[in-house]
Order: sequence, then C-alpha cells, then structure tokens
Amino acid sequence: MIETDFLIIGSGAAGLTLAIKLADAFPKKKIIVVTKSHQAESNTKYAQGGVAAVFDLEGDSFEKHIEDTLIAGDGLCDRKVVEMVIKEGPNRLRELMEWGARFDTNAKGELDLGKEGGHTEYRVIHHKDTTGHEIERTLLARVEQLRNINLLSHHFAIDLITEHHFSDLEPKKLSCYGAYVLDQISATIITIKADTTTIASGGLGMVYGHTTNPAVATGDGIAMAYRAKARIENMEFIQFHPTALYDGKKGASFLISEAVRGFGAFLRNKKGERFMFGYDKRGELASRDIVSRTIDSEIKSGEDESMFLDCTHLDIEEFKRHFPSIYQTCLERDIDIAKDWIPVVPAAHYLCGGVVVDMDGRTSIDNLFACGECSHTGLHGANRLASNSLLEALVFADRIFNFHSKNPPSRTTKRIPEWDDRGTVLLKNSKILQQKTIELQMLMRKYAGVVRNTEDLKGASSHLGKLYQETEVLYQNHKLNTELSELRNMVNVSYLIIEQSLKRQENRGGYYNKNYSKNILNQTL
Ligand SMILES: Cc1cc2nc3c(=O)[nH]c(=O)nc-3n(C[C@H](O)[C@H](O)[C@H](O)COP(=O)(O)OP(=O)(O)OC[C@H]3O[C@@H](n4cnc5c(N)ncnc54)[C@H](O)[C@@H]3O)c2cc1C
Repeated sequence: MIETDFLIIGSGAAGLTLAIKLADAFPKKKIIVVTKSHQAESNTKYAQGGVAAVFDLEGDSFEKHIEDTLIAGDGLCDRKVVEMVIKEGPNRLRELMEWGARFDTNAKGELDLGKEGGHTEYRVIHHKDTTGHEIERTLLARVEQLRNINLLSHHFAIDLITEHHFSDLEPKKLSCYGAYVLDQISATIITIKADTTTIASGGLGMVYGHTTNPAVATGDGIAMAYRAKARIENMEFIQFHPTALYDGKKGASFLISEAVRGFGAFLRNKKGERFMFGYDKRGELASRDIVSRTIDSEIKSGEDESMFLDCTHLDIEEFKRHFPSIYQTCLERDIDIAKDWIPVVPAAHYLCGGVVVDMDGRTSIDNLFACGECSHTGLHGANRLASNSLLEALVFADRIFNFHSKNPPSRTTKRIPEWDDRGTVLLKNSKILQQKTIELQMLMRKYAGVVRNTEDLKGASSHLGKLYQETEVLYQNHKLNTELSELRNMVNVSYLIIEQSLKRQENRGGYYNKNYSKNILNQTL
C-alpha cells in the first residue's frame, strides 16, 4: 500500500494544474498523479483552437463572454458558475504564461485574440493550431521541477476506495480513501491511500468509436464515480464535432477545425453536391450542431460512409499558414488538400455533463473532487461554448487547490483493504474484449449518437443490458487488465448516456431527439 496526501487521477490540463499548485504551496506534502498511458496523452494535448478569456477590456467584456456562454448553454447553465469561471479565466491564463506557455502575439506584442463560433468578440488565446500541446508541454515541464509530485505513467485507476469496500459497514455518508490502481507494466494492482482524491480523467469519446478524442478517453473517472454512487448528470449532452477526418478505421479521428469551413471550404457529398444549402441557408457556416446533424442524416440516408470537405479552390499557401498541422496530417494520410477532398464524419468530441461538483470542485462523496471534462460544474449547460473547456479545467483546478488550502485534509485511521482478486484467472482470449468494444461503439453511434429517437434509445438500453451482463461475468471471473476495465467503464457511461437521454423529453442545446422535433434545424418543440 502507498500512502499520499493528495491523489490525482489524470495528467491533462486539469490534473496537472492542480498537482502543480498543491506542490508549490505545500512542499512537504506528497502528491501522486496516476495516468494510464504516456504522461502527455490526454484530450488536452490535442486541443487546437485555444482558451477563451477576456483580455481586451475595451472591445470585449466579462458580461459579453458570460452572455455568449449562457446562450450556448440554452438555459441549463448555472449563472453563478459561469460568472465565476469567466472572471477568474484571465488570471489562470496569466499563471500559465508565468509557467512558460507561449501564446501567439500580434505585431504590437499583445496576445493575438481569435474568434470562434458562438463568440461575439475576439477572445480566444492560442498557440497556432496546437494550443493544447503547448499547454501540456508547459505543465509537464513545471511538474518536472517539483520534487514532491510523483507522476506515475502507465498507472490505470480501476476503482475508488469508499465504504463499499469495507463490507461490514452500511454507510450513511460516503467518503473516498484513495483508489486501486493497475500498474500496467508489471500487471499488479496497488492500493493508493490518499487524504483526498481528485478525478481529472477527461472525457469519453471512445464510447462512440468515431471520435476526435484519443484512445485514453473511455470515461473511466465517471464510471468509477458512478460505481461509488456519486451524482452524475447531463450525460445526454455529448457535443459532436461535424468534421473529423474519416480514414475508414474505427478508432480516433483527427479533427478538422471548424475554422476550415470559416476559411471557405465547401462540404460536398460523393456526387460533388454542396448539400448544406438544402438544409440551412447559411450553408457550410450553419452552427456546429446543424452541420453535424445534416452530415449524419446524409450519411444515414445514402450509401456513403462519409461526406467531404473540399479545399481545392482555396489559397493553399494561406491554408498551410493557418492550419499547419491539419495540412500535414492530411498529407501523411495521402490527402493532398490542393487536389483531394477530405473525407469527414461527425465524431464525439466533448462531454458537457459528468460528475456533479460544487463551486469548490467537491463531488457528492466526501474527500472526492473532480475537475476538467469528467466533471459537471454548471458552466456548459446543454452545450459548451467553443474554447470554454480548457478554461473550466484551469479554473476548477485552482478552486480545488484553494479549497484544500483553506481546509487541510486529515489522514484517516481506517484500515484500507487490499485489492482482492482471489479466484480469478487470466483472460486468455483478449479478442472477445475487442469484439465487445466494437459492438458497444456501433450501438452507441447508431442509436445514441448525433440524432436520437426514443424507440432506438429504448432498444439500445436493452441491448446494453445484455452487454453489461456479459462484461460483468468477464470482470468477476478474470484478473483485471486495461482493456477489460475500459470496456466495463464504457458500458457504465453508455448506460448513463442512454438513461439520461431517455429522461430528457425535449430538444435542448446539443441534444437532439427526433421525437421532439421533425426538423433537423429546430432546436425545441
Ligand atoms: C481534438 C480536440 C480539440 C479540442 N480543442 C479544444 C479547444 O480548442 N479549446 C478548448 O477549450 N477545449 C478543446 N478541446 C477539449 C479539451 O481539450 C478538453 O476538454 C480538456 O483538455 C480536458 O482536460 P482534462 O484535464 O479534463 O482531461 P484530459 O486532458 O483528457 O486528461 C485526462 C487524463 O486522465 C487520464 N486518465 C483517464 N482515465 C484514467 C484512468 N483510469 N487512470 C489513470 N489515468 C486516467 C488520461 O490518460 C489523461 O491523462 C478539444 C478536445 C479535442 C479532443
């Protein structure tokens, strides 16, 4: 058993920011960050656009950013949280710059502020089209300098330790005492006892297979919190990105930024028709949700596996200057955008809901905190405003740090049981896990994806029930490994998405169910 003051699950923007702040302020305390892959692998690393924050107090204002966020959230944001996050944003960005983050500047040496869909002003701070990479690089470099952070790569958190693991107790109030963690290299399960635990494990795009998220985004933290009986909400609000590069493979897809459509690219079907105008007079510049639904509907009504982004008429040198990594990635996949159309599909991009937290990042379980994409803070409501998510991760990491500063946690004297896998055997046939994962992803894409309907959701729910039983049998009888854990977690979060979708009897924000509106363009009844 390892004992620590603070345990953090995840090494993206949320987890690393919290670790740095705790380590800086409490040099004698021990911080363990576990992360299930290479230390940099995270949604954070792939963020392209930037971080929204008000720096231009003449042309822009906190009020305008608040208003834009509330409009995107379609009535479900928590105004107090929105105000807090937006007002604290610039300080968090300044802090990142002090730690070494390099954001683009204009000729006057001021921050070069970008504008994205839904923002009424220029306020997106960025580093070319690789902002997330720059943030992750900065945070990891700072972590390296802090000796009281122990960053354990290839360590997969399996389950939170709560009263449920002490079989003799019938808890009135739940507390978290740390987590069981699989060392993926030695295949052993270690017990990490912690005074407080923070889940910063990111999103769940892999549940859909077609996703802009990397392979690590399997909703683990949310599933663990759900099993521990924490409150989880707004799971029906999955944001789909309309244009992810489709290469015929089932795995992660590279994101083709919406700015490419803003730059003048056309959306075409295989026949070459610009189909968007059949749905919305703004054509390619319709909102993200409408473009996603339209592409989804075109694909489902025809034979084609994808639609296409046509950039061949654009100034390619200018394109390369604006979107160097998009240009390069396409080229690496034999797509020369000067001549070829880019095959695209909508892909799961961002989860607006998650583990419910208060303004200090506290979950409904004592000593358990959550921040970043896995959490539901009230900032995004029914739809996230572009570039507000990194902002949320940075601000809530700071809030959790402040809470810990004012309320130093104490060490429990409880005896924590070690992981017990007596009676289980090694799973010999790992193909079965791949098959079940693909089955789950197809189910979610088809019946709980961009456009949903109640009948399909009910069908998906009973199919998922079968998958759940099969996965639980595998879990009960076999030694845990990463794939089995991830499958179990994806089944859990899929259940939450489907059940919470069925409960939402309206169309709102990013959620769209055909039963509540016949027209793809209509948001509500
Ligand atoms: C392609 C892309 C572009 C984006 N562009 C933008 C943008 O321009 N602006 C913006 O604001 N947002 C953007 N986002 C969203 C944003 O990147 C994420 O919401 C944000 O980075 C989430 O940060 P996080 O720290 O919460 O999670 P992540 O950065 O995803 O980090 C989660 C960490 O948890 C680890 N982990 C997960 N499960 C376990 C486990 N069981 N055990 C141990 N470790 C685990 C992961 O390995 C990872 O290290 C984009 C996302 C993508 C995918």
